[in-house]
Amino acid sequence: MKRIIYIILIVTVIILLITFLGNELSKARSFQLFGDLVDHVETEEHVVALTFDDGPGIHSEEVLQVLDEQEVKATFFLTGEEIENEPELAQLMADRGHEIGNHSYSHERMVLKSPSFIEKEVQKTNGLIREIGYKGEIHFRPPYGKKLFILPYHLSQHNQKTVMWNLEPESDPELARDSEKMITYVEEEVKPGSIILMHVMYENRKESLKAIPGMIESLKEKGYTFVTVSDLMQDQGN
Ligand SMILES: [Zn+2]
Repeated sequence: MKRIIYIILIVTVIILLITFLGNELSKARSFQLFGDLVDHVETEEHVVALTFDDGPGIHSEEVLQVLDEQEVKATFFLTGEEIENEPELAQLMADRGHEIGNHSYSHERMVLKSPSFIEKEVQKTNGLIREIGYKGEIHFRPPYGKKLFILPYHLSQHNQKTVMWNLEPESDPELARDSEKMITYVEEEVKPGSIILMHVMYENRKESLKAIPGMIESLKEKGYTFVTVSDLMQDQGN
C-alpha cells in the first residue's frame, strides 16, 4: 500500500514537472525547438522595429496616418479572420509599404493542436496575405507568443521564421494604462536591434495608440531609425 502511494506521488510530481516545463517552453521568447526564432537582432546600428499585433481593427487608419506622418515603416502581424473581414484595411497597410506578418487565422493558442489545424491556420493566412498584394517574406508571430512542437516544426518546414519581441510595455498593467509611462519605459529599455510589440487596433487599446507618436519621436531623438522586421534581420545578415 505504502509503495502504491509512493508511486502515485512520483508520477504526480513528474506530470506536474512536465506540465510546468511545457508551459515555460511554450511561452519562451527567445527559444523554440525547431526553425528560426528572432526576438531582437544583435547590431551596432541604432535600428529598431515597431510591430503591431492583431487586426486589421477599427484604429488601423489612425495608426497608418501616424506612421505616415512620422515616415516610419512598421510590421503588422494580422490574423486571417480579420483580413477576411477588412481586406481593404489590410491592403492599405501593404500598399503604404509596411511589412505584413502572419498572426494565425483564428488567434487561438497554437499549442496542443493537431498538425492539420496548425497547417490550416498558417497556410490559409499566408494565402490571404498574398491576396491583399503583399509580396515580401511572411514571418509568423504566434498568438499569445505560444508555441511548442507542431507550430515551430511546421514553420521550419516552410522556411517561415518565428518573430517574437523583446520590448512590450503593455505587459505591465501599470504602464499599459498610461501612454507617457509606456513611452518612458521604451525610451529607457530600447537597445539597437530591439523589436517592440504594441497592440493598437481595438477600442480598449486607446492608451497604446496614444503612445505611438511620442514613442517614435523619443526614439528618433535618441538617434534610432525605424525599420521593418525583415529589414532589421537583414541588418544582422540573418
Ligand atoms: Zn495577438
